[in-house]
Amino acid sequence: ERNQKQFSRMNSENGVQDAKNLRVKLVLLGDSGVGKSCIVLRFVRGLFDPTSKVTVGASFLSQTIALQDSTTVKFEIWDTAGQERYAALAPLYYRGAAVAVVVYDITSPESFTKAQYWVKELQKHGSPDIVMALVGNKADLLDKREVPVQDGIECAEKNGMFFIETSAKTADNINELFEDIVDYASCKLPIEVL
Ligand code: GDP
Repeated sequence: ERNQKQFSRMNSENGVQDAKNLRVKLVLLGDSGVGKSCIVLRFVRGLFDPTSKVTVGASFLSQTIALQDSTTVKFEIWDTAGQERYAALAPLYYRGAAVAVVVYDITSPESFTKAQYWVKELQKHGSPDIVMALVGNKADLLDKREVPVQDGIECAEKNGMFFIETSAKTADNINELFEDIVDYASCKLPIEVL
């Protein structure tokens, strides 16, 4: 790949400021209704609007964040745009993806089972060094929780994934999801550098 370089982790011990501009293709996977679009909308626009459907079919939304070490990361976020059933079969969807975020709804055991299916699909079709995150969304609905945090943690550990619970509604852990993924990813994978 033309722009591909090894991402070298910032050496924070000796305080070397080594600013980088990273571009990261991130694909979202998960059952319909788990809140994928709402997570993107919250992250990119700072909004929660359950009525507005973000359509990102062939294109994607992007959002750039600045990390403390003055690295900037431009996320190119690919949502399935309602094509959950077919996304896993589309090589284009996975091609060049450095990060895959598999989302389930903590109030829906079915969506958690489905998440495990998507993880298997990723292991089959994704790049061998793809960084995977498991996200339990709708964490604000604690009284309706049906998937224990521990189940999420165990599934993530078993599959070498980053784990976090989020709420697109309250914005809880949404920015952290994206920031922490970079942190988690940078120690284990080459990331495309612009
Ligand atoms: P997608 O099909 O995975 O893209 O799911 P959407 O983003 O369209 O969300 C489905 C529905 O779940 C929306 O109508 C939202 O009202 C609701 N939703 C999404 N995220 C949250 C959340 O964090 N908390 C709550 N309580 N509801 C959410």
